[in-house]
Amino acid sequence: MPAQTTNLPTTPIFRSEEELSRLPASERIRYRLVGAECRYHANDNIAAFIREGELAELESEVEARMQEVLEALVIDTDSDHNTNETAKRVARMFLTEVFRGRYVPIPSVTEFPNFSRLNELMIVGPVKVRSACSHHLCPILGRVWIGILPNEHSNLIGLSKYARICEWIMSRPQIQEEAVMMLANELQVRVKPDGLAIVMEADHFCMHWRGVRDDESMMTNSVMRGAFLKDANLRREFLSLLSKKV
Ligand SMILES: [Zn+2]
Repeated sequence: MPAQTTNLPTTPIFRSEEELSRLPASERIRYRLVGAECRYHANDNIAAFIREGELAELESEVEARMQEVLEALVIDTDSDHNTNETAKRVARMFLTEVFRGRYVPIPSVTEFPNFSRLNELMIVGPVKVRSACSHHLCPILGRVWIGILPNEHSNLIGLSKYARICEWIMSRPQIQEEAVMMLANELQVRVKPDGLAIVMEADHFCMHWRGVRDDESMMTNSVMRGAFLKDANLRREFLSLLSKKV
């Protein structure tokens, strides 16, 4: 999903391509985002603003700054062989794994018309969720269930594609309430069902590792749209099928 427009008051000072090329990649990308008045919060996808080769540049930039973080923590990364390559590993992990969903376009999804006019409740899940909280960058691990009530005009997508779209949305720093909304918006636009239901249940590691250190910290969120909002029986059917699958 492209980053959303916000009311940024600033119009950036014009910079020539030549001038831009001397800046770090993160500044070039930020310049384009601000120029297009596009939001770039932690859970926004900014792939449309990144040019070829710039992801590798970003990785080196993050590595250099991560090294500074380790130095600020007074860790001797020269003689400590365990942390020697930590900055590099963390930068790679952020950009190519755990926050990858910010930097790459949506995985290609083939949609096909609903030829057989399926109009029965369809449930996908549990889909494994690996995310991170945007407050502490601590892992969030959980599961998502998706309920779809298609109509004859819906575009159906392959079952595995639900998991790929989910992974693309979740691999960003998030808060759970927004993550389920983003997933619902993406599926609504693509599938155009009569009803859409999403339930996400996740374990927030910032609750175990720090803060209250509460070990019973599962959080459950749901989004119900269309027929799932209007029809209590449908909602009940979805939730009961889901509880049998746990
Ligand atoms: Zn947190």
